[in-house]
Amino acid sequence: MQDKIVRATAKDGMVRIIAGITTNLVNEGSKIHECTPVASAALGRMLTAGTLIGTTLKSEKEVVTLKINGNGEINGITVTAHSDASVKGFIGNPYVDRPLNEKGKLDVGGAIGTDGILYVIKDLGLRDPYVGQVPIQTGEIAEDFAYYFTASEQTPSAVSLGVLVDRDLSIKAAGGFIVQMMPGADELLADVITYRLEEIPPITTLISEGKTIEEILEYIFDGMDLKVLDSLTPEYKCDCSRERVEKALISIGKETLQEIYDDKKNEEIVCNFCNTKYEFTNDEIGELLNNSR
Ligand SMILES: [Zn+2]
Repeated sequence: MQDKIVRATAKDGMVRIIAGITTNLVNEGSKIHECTPVASAALGRMLTAGTLIGTTLKSEKEVVTLKINGNGEINGITVTAHSDASVKGFIGNPYVDRPLNEKGKLDVGGAIGTDGILYVIKDLGLRDPYVGQVPIQTGEIAEDFAYYFTASEQTPSAVSLGVLVDRDLSIKAAGGFIVQMMPGADELLADVITYRLEEIPPITTLISEGKTIEEILEYIFDGMDLKVLDSLTPEYKCDCSRERVEKALISIGKETLQEIYDDKKNEEIVCNFCNTKYEFTNDEIGELLNNSR
């Protein structure tokens, strides 16, 4: 099934919903980084959060970066997303292996670690980016974003992020949603929605049963005047280029560049987000050095 994100409202706009199926996107990220199952689950939840939050940006120039830096073996995850639902991610240690947690699930919280910070950095094209941060609550990621929206953006929110890893390490199902109560929504409505969200099966179960994202939302918000506003196709996409890598090489400073040149060796730079290799011959390093003078 194709990945899809939908934006919707319920109860006359009192409830705002962004929900998506991200199986292919997460599979791509997991393959690029050669993730173990627990690393796939953690990276996949962050990528899904990224693509969902990215769609809240107003223009294509805006960028949102999400960072979760716990003290666990994963050693941090960073994802960057745009308004067109494209996203890329980097995981400190994709080879982390842990026993299942006490619920028999992949131990994402243990692998992320609970001693650390979740950052949401929005570059809106202004002089300074907006930086929101909250202490990590459980490291399970969805709870951490729910806490972030409620504590830092004062928007009571329910967040669900799920990744189901198959035996062959491919991604069987991935997706999630962010459900937010708008100012003025009554508390009873919030209670009803919280109750429904607790009652439904995990989103990855619904996705692997073949339900579309619209069907999943109709199921959750049955009788609540659900209105689907629009849809987008999420995608794992890196915006690196040779030109950007050249700029990065120049920015490391003349002395370091001179040392690389003096070594008489070629240089290979690998993009952290997509593993694209950029080769520079010794002559090309020399040219960059000349240009940086
Ligand atoms: Zn790249």
